Amino acid sequence: MLSKRIPITRISQFVIGYMILAFAWWSFHLWQQNERLFTAEQRLLESQFSRGNSGVNLTKLQGTVEYAKIVKSWESGRRMIFAEGLFFSACLIFGLWIINRSANREVALARQRRNFLLSITHELKSPIASIRLVIETLIKRTLTEPQRAHLLSNGLKDVDRLQQLVEDLLLAARLEDKWQPLPEPMNVEAIARDCTDALRVRFPEANIVILHNESCPAVMADRLGMVAVIKNLLENAVKYSPSGARIEFSATMDSNNQCRLRIADQGQGIPDIEKGRIFEKFYRVGNEETRKNTGTGLGLFIVSQVLKAHHGTIAVSDNHPQGTVFTLVV
Ligand code: ADP
Repeated sequence: MLSKRIPITRISQFVIGYMILAFAWWSFHLWQQNERLFTAEQRLLESQFSRGNSGVNLTKLQGTVEYAKIVKSWESGRRMIFAEGLFFSACLIFGLWIINRSANREVALARQRRNFLLSITHELKSPIASIRLVIETLIKRTLTEPQRAHLLSNGLKDVDRLQQLVEDLLLAARLEDKWQPLPEPMNVEAIARDCTDALRVRFPEANIVILHNESCPAVMADRLGMVAVIKNLLENAVKYSPSGARIEFSATMDSNNQCRLRIADQGQGIPDIEKGRIFEKFYRVGNEETRKNTGTGLGLFIVSQVLKAHHGTIAVSDNHPQGTVFTLVV
């Protein structure tokens, strides 16, 4: 799909280049014509004038009504070419800017869709393959009870992964469709603890530390939405950090009586140029063919949409000496 776009871009660049050159040439040509017309009219007037007078006196000629007329038409021709040229250039530049912007958006959208398809295929394929393996092993081999239990628990983890993926897809679709949160009081530290326990099943090495705060505020928010926010941010912190690296979660009350959540990791960090884009739907940093971590690019989109529905904010910054800090105000 992308490879087909390249020639179209080249052709449009060629057409644009041709239009600019043609326009410049026609403007120059018109200008010259105007100059020539003026010179010709001036000569004609001179010859008419010299017929009645002996020797042409230019000062006398310039004082005549006829001369004033041709100067006026020459000047208005110049003004017209200049003003129209300026207006046309402005329209052309504006049009080109719009075309270029839409073309860039189209290309970015196509790339995101392609990335999403690649990642979702991978996200679906690997748990399905391992569930199949579990079932085949159970059918073909006689296993001891502990072996059976181990296999089944692995199979269950893959089913959970598939279920999570489907839930994320559904939630992302609902969030786009004017989702209304149902606020209720909740303890965000307790939610973070539950999410951590759930994450440890998939990432046993996850080193998430919940910094307990005595004055941890009870937040009024949608429970499902808040669980999705905290779960996605903690999961990302684990996924994009080296195994066992410390991840901190804390919730405090800020001066405006709002709850401030902070999730800080010591992972690979996010380049400044990408920070503004990571909240877009399906956006993932880097290239799908070379990326090591699994994902769909939906996590941070869900986070930002849930916060938006709560009139909350999210900010991303660098951790020191390395890593990422997400700061949320709800
Ligand atoms: P994904 O399914 O790819 O994790 P997300 O929407 O959750 O999708 O995140 C978008 C991108 O932002 C990720 O692909 C990743 O490159 C980057 N990212 C998110 N969180 C972190 C983090 N804590 N550290 C480094 N990179 C992150």
